This record gives sequence, C-alpha cells and structure tokens, in this order.
Amino acid sequence: MDKTQWKEEYDARSVLDCPCCGCDYPEHRCSNCYSDMSKETCWKNDGYCSEKCFKYIYEELPRVRKEKEEAGFKCLCDEPMCGKCLGVGCTEAGCPTHSDIQKKLWKEQNSKR
Ligand SMILES: [Zn+2]
Ligand SMILES: [Zn+2]
Ligand SMILES: [Zn+2]
Ligand SMILES: [Zn+2]
Repeated sequence: MDKTQWKEEYDARSVLDCPCCGCDYPEHRCSNCYSDMSKETCWKNDGYCSEKCFKYIYEELPRVRKEKEEAGFKCLCDEPMCGKCLGVGCTEAGCPTHSDIQKKLWKEQNSKR
C-alpha cells in the first residue's frame, strides 16, 4: 500500500496506524524526539514534529554515522534513545551516539521499575 492510499484509509479510519509516524489513531508522536504533535504537523514533516527533527534524521545522523565509521567506532547504531544500546549493547566509551551521561540516565530510569 502506498502512502497516499494509506493516508486515505487512515482518514476513513479503516487503518489505525499513522502512515508517517506509525502511532495508533489519534496519536502522533515525533519519530525523533517523541513529542506529541498534530496530524497536520506529522504528515507535513513525514512523521517528525519539526523540520529540525526531520533534518536530524536524514542529514545529521548519516553524517555522524560516517564520522563514527571513520573514527573506528564499533557501535554503528544511530538511534540516540536506543534502549538496547543504552542498556547493555553499547560498551564503547565516548560513543558519539550514546553518551556516558545518556547511558547513566537510562540505567537510572530503568532500574526504578
Ligand atoms: Zn503520525
Ligand atoms: Zn521532534
Ligand atoms: Zn542501538
Ligand atoms: Zn553506541
């Protein structure tokens, strides 16, 4: 199903997940920063709350990944909030995507539950 058709079906409520951000109706959450947004914003930025987030994913991240490769980092995951990497996966000290502070915060948050 292409996106245009998907959008029509979404508006007709025959599908419940948003073609852009993937959230269930009626929610829309930015695929980068997880903030809530309207459908209009979501569809305008293809699943992102702002042009900044969209650009971050499509311009910033590929650049960061390339820099990481060139610097010899083994962790090539480019998702800053990736639970797998923040929890156990990323053991690289000074990893540009998963900073030590983020790892610490993630562990604190997840040990509470
Ligand atoms: Zn959406
Ligand atoms: Zn965002
Ligand atoms: Zn990851
Ligand atoms: Zn990492």
